[in-house]
Amino acid sequence: MTSSAFRIIKRAEWGAITPKFPYINIFPERIVIHHYGMEVGRPRTITSKYYKGPDSILYLQNKHIKKLGLNDIKYHFIICQDGTVYEGRPLGTAGCHCKSYDNTTIAIMFYGNYNVEQVDKRSLKSFILLLRYIKEKYKHLNIPKCIKNHRDYELTLCPGHNLSNLINIMKLRNWNFEE
Ligand SMILES: [Zn+2]
Repeated sequence: MTSSAFRIIKRAEWGAITPKFPYINIFPERIVIHHYGMEVGRPRTITSKYYKGPDSILYLQNKHIKKLGLNDIKYHFIICQDGTVYEGRPLGTAGCHCKSYDNTTIAIMFYGNYNVEQVDKRSLKSFILLLRYIKEKYKHLNIPKCIKNHRDYELTLCPGHNLSNLINIMKLRNWNFEE
């Protein structure tokens, strides 16, 4: 697997809104995994079906800013089922995704509902390449040990049973993502 084909869709490419307030610079210690999940009351939704390219990321950013009152999209990276990776908040700045851990973590969100969906091979491949990209920037990170599921920190099902199981297996086997 080479990283030559790996590309992150930058904010400007998906038309990100410029945040009102300056970012808070951070030095990350861990990576937190999230999923999109589902709308309230619709636990069986196949969320990845609603992904419509860059517009869906802009929609999400709008939702986080206008509905939740945040400064920007919650996460640093969004991985879609087809393997596309989007840049969210700039790496090295605080996200807004996990209370008490925003200033020490990198947030990766998988665009799906992994209580009912399986992790697509293409998104898994992108995830591995993204981890390598992060490791190049932050050599001190002990991957996969430093990866956490959102549910490790808060009372939530996020990132869904299937995705959190996968993360736990990767950690349990101390899987070598650099191979
Ligand atoms: Zn989450």
